[in-house]
Amino acid sequence: MVIKFDPGLYIVAGPIGNLSDLTPRAAELLRRADVIAVEDSRVSAKLLRHAGSDRPMIPYHDHSSEKLRAQLVERMASEAVALLSDAGTPLISDPGYKLVRDARAAGRFVTTLPGPSAAIAALTLSGLPTDRFLFMGFLPSKAKARGDVLTEVMAVRATLIFYESGPRLSDSLAAMALVLGDRDAAVVREISKTFEETVTGCLSELSARYTDTPPKGEIVVIVGSPGEAPAPSEADTDAALIEAMARLPVSKAAGEVAKKLGLDRRTLYARAMLLKDGA
Ligand code: SAM
Repeated sequence: MVIKFDPGLYIVAGPIGNLSDLTPRAAELLRRADVIAVEDSRVSAKLLRHAGSDRPMIPYHDHSSEKLRAQLVERMASEAVALLSDAGTPLISDPGYKLVRDARAAGRFVTTLPGPSAAIAALTLSGLPTDRFLFMGFLPSKAKARGDVLTEVMAVRATLIFYESGPRLSDSLAAMALVLGDRDAAVVREISKTFEETVTGCLSELSARYTDTPPKGEIVVIVGSPGEAPAPSEADTDAALIEAMARLPVSKAAGEVAKKLGLDRRTLYARAMLLKDGA
């Protein structure tokens, strides 16, 4: 049966290392699309050869001109436009969201041909809880900005997923240990390729392991959720309230302590009023 592809935008996930992970439907789409928007035509040419596609490519990035994006959206009215990344799922630390946004705004048909993404593949290999996770993409390379981003998520109760590179790995793991605490983690490398490897341990151990020998290849770091903090005792709560009330009005003090200790603000306000009255 000949598959007919309607005009519109087709988000096509490609392999993250092993060409055989390209799905048959994605290969068919790549053979029949009118045009394929790609990050780097040299990289995508290899996948197109594997898929038996001779369709034309257009280099596209989110920082491409508005004009190019508008032209692609215009073409989607009558042609099947495929969006392909160098690896894995487009839009995941890769270009595409502005194209999807504009295609939707113009009322075009938009669909996805799902497939591999390194983030999900690494999460499944890590052995860490998968019920709640937060994808963090690449951390900033400057130490201050990296620390700020980690501080933002230190209290998040979820497994964290980071994309990384070999030369930065040890420093990033050390910064994570410092800011997030020495949590369980996994370094997952070269998924679906010859030298695929998953190394688990706490963040400080992993950082030490890679200090002198930065690993080669593509890397995802998975970091476990913070452990359950023990509930603060009544005495600790009172002490925190008394300290905060010495600096702040009662309601603000209750709010600050509630946030810090993860307790109910109204309950703490009532307790603070009692403490204030000398109860
Ligand atoms: N769109 C891709 C996806 O869906 O996974 C991610 C693109 S991002 C620019 C590239 C990063 O993904 C790499 O630097 C690495 O952190 C991670 N990555 C890609 N392929 C990988 C692989 N085979 N093994 C481990 N990590 C990989």
